[in-house]
Amino acid sequence: MSKQTVRTLKLSREQEQKLLDTWREYEAKTPAYARFCLRPENCVITCYESGKTVFQGSDADVYASPFMNEGPLSEETEVPSDLILPQAGSDEVGTGDYFGPVCVCAAIVSEKDMALITKLGIRDSKQLNDELIRKAAPQLMSQLIYSLLIVDNERYNRVHDFNNMNAIKAKLHNQAYINLAGKAKLPAFRIIDQFAPEGMYYHYLKHEPVIMRGIHFETKAEDHYPSVAAASVIARYAFLRCMDQLEETWQMKFNKGGGAKADESGKQFVAKYGKDELYKVAKLHFKNTGRITGE
Ligand code: MN
Repeated sequence: MSKQTVRTLKLSREQEQKLLDTWREYEAKTPAYARFCLRPENCVITCYESGKTVFQGSDADVYASPFMNEGPLSEETEVPSDLILPQAGSDEVGTGDYFGPVCVCAAIVSEKDMALITKLGIRDSKQLNDELIRKAAPQLMSQLIYSLLIVDNERYNRVHDFNNMNAIKAKLHNQAYINLAGKAKLPAFRIIDQFAPEGMYYHYLKHEPVIMRGIHFETKAEDHYPSVAAASVIARYAFLRCMDQLEETWQMKFNKGGGAKADESGKQFVAKYGKDELYKVAKLHFKNTGRITGE
């Protein structure tokens, strides 16, 4: 396969017009959030409303180079645009919650998925309330290719004896991408909602038999990349469903988060079932445990 290059430039309006005039005969269907899209030989050029123009393909530099040396506003960046499609993104949920599992999801979003993503208004899952998550996630799960990992509390507490939280996250994200690659061809553009510096991430993975590389790390990635937003919604949904189950099993409500509300639930749980059962519902290394058991 020929080498795929991605070149993102910020062009002036005049430059965008010149680009369009030059290659107008190759104009293709305009994707979401774009002004126009051109498909000359060996390259897809997408000019986005955000002001970024992305040149993608084996001849990307052939088409981009006239704009890379010239004039104002021409900005070369190795960081690809948020709307390079297809893309794979991953995010985790539950790492700040004393009760319940850690859920990690990696999902692929292709051009054909953008209509659904846009319709659902998927952005940061923290901005979406639980009700919306419960509605949107099943639709995403039926259309997107994704991999979901759920680590329940018993397993989490066993694993945490040998790994800190960030190591656990790194291994789960890596495994999610490995599983995803088993379901579909993994897009070249992969994004993790960053929870640790890139070097640390790979440091945690150094003894893993398979390490997925070529990942772009960015904080608040769910606000910029539809694949991360979708992964975040699916992970959040899995977390909610697990909490439903925990509440059903133990016949009580577990407050989310890691604060005083969670302590209240913890004290209620211990009064009902005893502290020896906590490892089945909570992440024991959290400070909440000491406050709840008084130890
Ligand atoms: Mn995140």
